[in-house]
Amino acid sequence: MINIVLFGKPGAGKGTQAEFLKTKYNLTHLSTGDIFRFNIKGDTDLGKLAKTFMDKGELVPDAVTIKMLESECNNHPDSSGFLFDGFPRTLSQAEALDAFLESKNEQITATIALEADDEVLVKRILERGKTSGRPDDQDAEKIRNRYQEYNEKTAPLMDYYKGQNKFHSVNGIGSIQEITERLSLVINSLK
Ligand code: AMP
Repeated sequence: MINIVLFGKPGAGKGTQAEFLKTKYNLTHLSTGDIFRFNIKGDTDLGKLAKTFMDKGELVPDAVTIKMLESECNNHPDSSGFLFDGFPRTLSQAEALDAFLESKNEQITATIALEADDEVLVKRILERGKTSGRPDDQDAEKIRNRYQEYNEKTAPLMDYYKGQNKFHSVNGIGSIQEITERLSLVINSLK
C-alpha cells in the first residue's frame, strides 16, 4: 500500500494532479476541500459549519477535519492506497494521521510538495475563480488569508516530514503533463 500526501500552497495544482495520479497508481483520492464543498452543497451540518471558516479563507478546526478524514478512510477499507490532497494542513492533523495509519499498521509513504512562486499561484487562483464558482477563489482578501494560514500552520509540516525522511519536492511550473511526469518519477522511486 502506498499512501501519498500531496502538499502545496493554494493554486499549486494539487487537485489537478491528483486526478491523474489516482488513476495511474490506483489510489483513493481524498480531498478535504472537496469533501467540505460536497457537504456545503448538500447543506449538511458539517457543510454549514465548514462554510463559516472557508468563506473567510480560514482553516476548519482540526477536530472536525480529522474526524471527517478518518471516517472517509474507513469508508474505503479495501483501498490499495490513499492520495491525501489538502490534508494534513496542521501539525495536529499530521500527528493524528500518523497515529490513525499506525493503528491500521499503515504509514505515510511520502509527502510530495508542488512548488511555485506566490505570484504565479495568485494569478492561477483568480483565473480559476472565474469558472470554479468558489467564493474563496474570487476575493483577494480571502486568498491572502489562505496564504497566511498556509504560511503559519501548514508550512511547518515540511520540517515534520523532512524529519521522517519523507519529504520530496517537485517543480510545479510547467504543463500539466510535465508536472505529472515529475510526480510520477518520485512515486516510482518509492516502490
Ligand atoms: P482546498 O480545496 O484544499 O483549497 O480547501 C479549501 C478550504 O477548505 C480551505 O481554505 C479550508 O477552509 C478548508 N480545508 C480544506 N482542507 C482542510 C484541512 N485539512 N484543514 C482545515 N481546513 C481545510
